[in-house]
Amino acid sequence: MEAHKLRNPNKEDSELLVKLNALKAKHMKGALVPSSASASTKEEEARADLISHYVLRLAYCRTAELRKWFLAQECEMFRLKFSKYEAAEHEAFLAVHAPQYKAVDSAEFESVRDDVYKVMHSCLESKDIIQRTMAAPHFYKVAWTRVPELVSQRRVLLRRGFAYVSREALAPLVVAEFRASVSKGLSDMARRWRQMFPAEEEQRLQPLVASLANRSLVADYSGVATKYGDVSAASLQQLSARHFPLCMGHLMTQLHAEKHLRHGGRQQLGLFLKGIGLPMEEALLFWRSEFAPRTPNDQFDKQYAYNIRHNYGREGKRTDYTAHKCTTIVCFSGGPGDHHGCPYRRLDETQLRQALGRLKCEDRKIEEAVAKAREGHYQLACASAFEGIHRVPEMDVGVSAPLQYYTESRRIHAEREATAAQGAGAAAAGAGAGAAAGTGPGAAGAGAGGSGAGDAAMEAAPAGGATPGAPTPPQRGLKRGPEGAPLGSTPGAGR
Ligand code: SF4
Repeated sequence: MEAHKLRNPNKEDSELLVKLNALKAKHMKGALVPSSASASTKEEEARADLISHYVLRLAYCRTAELRKWFLAQECEMFRLKFSKYEAAEHEAFLAVHAPQYKAVDSAEFESVRDDVYKVMHSCLESKDIIQRTMAAPHFYKVAWTRVPELVSQRRVLLRRGFAYVSREALAPLVVAEFRASVSKGLSDMARRWRQMFPAEEEQRLQPLVASLANRSLVADYSGVATKYGDVSAASLQQLSARHFPLCMGHLMTQLHAEKHLRHGGRQQLGLFLKGIGLPMEEALLFWRSEFAPRTPNDQFDKQYAYNIRHNYGREGKRTDYTAHKCTTIVCFSGGPGDHHGCPYRRLDETQLRQALGRLKCEDRKIEEAVAKAREGHYQLACASAFEGIHRVPEMDVGVSAPLQYYTESRRIHAEREATAAQGAGAAAAGAGAGAAAGTGPGAAGAGAGGSGAGDAAMEAAPAGGATPGAPTPPQRGLKRGPEGAPLGSTPGAGR
């Protein structure tokens, strides 16, 4: 949601709410209960929502940074929901959660109507707003000390210590109260952290809670190595051109050009290659051949081979190291001669445009990526580039790991290949049927692919059924009837 907002800063609240609901429906089982659901289902959903909120409070209370992020997300979701409530829902909510806001009944409102009008008029509210507010007045009164800003700006009527607040002005006030309450709850929870997790729970619950804050909607891509098992030293250049994110593609290019990479680059690229399924023997072969002839074989064995084996857990502590995620790579800094890190952060705008242009990214998306990178949203910039290179609609979330980028790219490519193969198969079948139906020499257009069969169908046509001496070549994409009329022009024909 955060990524979606950053990418679409001008979207209306209603559009954001639609997106929020779509994300909830996709990622949170049972999170969206239809209004027709029974009371017990709704109660159950509210309970689950409450529990998840407190579990997340626990997970996100531990550092100031986590608290800040969580607070911002919760407040934004609350604001979106609250702003869409009907008047009755507002009242019900306030009665339970903010009883300090009391609805003003119609008799009381009539007694202050003129003064309210004057206040609105004096603070230069537009005619439209005044008319709308006065036509269906929904006002709340609250102790003036709770809304000092509105009082100091003379935007509310004051009577006997109460401020009269319209429904339109209510949302920011309630959100501020919500923020203060959640913030206090998070601080309290952080203070009690030690108390709640005594030493004996450190091994059991603490790691579980800590891991929650590191989770995201992004799937675990560690299985990619087994899913696409065609990775070898020989196929890396081709895979890089098609499927690697810019950080890895850039390292591949520099490695090839300079016949060397410094330690940071070797680690970043080496662990990624391991992650996509490059076996250790192939990795040794790849690095050895890329380093040659600048680094002779024996020097390579002495200086670099150990580190490669170490990354695969075959030396030293035998740790099975995993590929870096974007958050780690983005933080890498390096001096001249270093090429690791995230290019959306490290390259200047001209270099970035050139690099994306070489990947045949759409111009519009190049500019979008450059703009996002300029604002410091490197992962969103990468997502824009992905969409521009693969010609796909907007992604749900930004790119969170090079392995995610690679997996998505391969998935899209595999789907497109499967679709093309199906089209070619259908065309060949159509061509075969056309040939069987043909009447020998002179059969006009026999074997042409059915409409919609695509280029593969057109290529298959002559071999599949074109008869020597056929007077006219078949028209592209349309099967022809005996009189030469496109069958596709007859309802129901041509498929
Ligand atoms: Fe690589 Fe992540 Fe930067 Fe994209 S955002 S280039 S995947 S580090």
